[in-house]
Amino acid sequence: MPDLDPYFFQNNRWSFTRHRVWNRCPRQYYFEYIAPYVRSDPVVDPGKIRWLKNFTSKFVVQGQVVHDIIDQQIQAHCEERPMSLDEALSTFSRKVAAYRTVEGITFTECHNGQAIPDSFYTDMEANGQTCLFTFFGKWPEYAKRQCLRHEKFDTFMVGDTGVTVKVDFIGKMPDGTLLLTDWKTGKDDDGNESGLQMAAYVLWAKEYYNLPADEIGTELVFLKTGKTKPYNFFDEQLVELKEMIVPEFAAMNASYEFEDFPAKSSQRECLSCKFAEVCDRTESPG
Ligand code: SF4
Repeated sequence: MPDLDPYFFQNNRWSFTRHRVWNRCPRQYYFEYIAPYVRSDPVVDPGKIRWLKNFTSKFVVQGQVVHDIIDQQIQAHCEERPMSLDEALSTFSRKVAAYRTVEGITFTECHNGQAIPDSFYTDMEANGQTCLFTFFGKWPEYAKRQCLRHEKFDTFMVGDTGVTVKVDFIGKMPDGTLLLTDWKTGKDDDGNESGLQMAAYVLWAKEYYNLPADEIGTELVFLKTGKTKPYNFFDEQLVELKEMIVPEFAAMNASYEFEDFPAKSSQRECLSCKFAEVCDRTESPG
């Protein structure tokens, strides 16, 4: 068993993000979550891995910029400062322009040898503006809810397994029930995975707010189209989630040996993978 930095164990919890990386490519999971903390005979230099972790896929950045601006605007509302669509739009444009100038040291795809076409920035600008217009169009409905929390990390336990969640917006409705909202900036074909993410939020909220599942609703808001997709859960479904989380987390931690994390390469994933440079199984375009 490799010697791991104690920091690894302090922060080793199941999360929806880890679940996705684990199922996408176990080797990518190893590089992301274990390799930076290996203290004895590392397969890859942990310093190099930490440096590669600074890069982010252009697709993640696209969504993250919108999320950050929305969160700043919600924070302004919580502090009783005025929200401003104009300010949000101009901040967004400034950020897109700034990313253009640092793409080589920011985007994973650039680092992996792919040129970023102008059309990416044009689409990023147009999509981001649409998302912000939609958010501000919907906000009056959200402003009626008491904002309990937004974009804050929380942890809880499922048996012996630590779990981390981060809900975009938690509103308390006039009847005392909660509605947990996740803003989506991509296409509105989220598949089945979002149900898992929302169920994890409800598991946490049940405990944190001491409420039954039927008093906690969740919704995805697709900011590109304005479509809203609600998810409600029965306790039986939440039990199923717990029965998935515990063994999955055990599998993630059954070994910390590099060989036990097989590569699942695909051209699409490898091009956006931060660790392609140090992975001998990467699929390059062509
Ligand atoms: S480069 Fe491809 S195979 Fe290697 S870790 Fe990344 S996604 Fe997995």
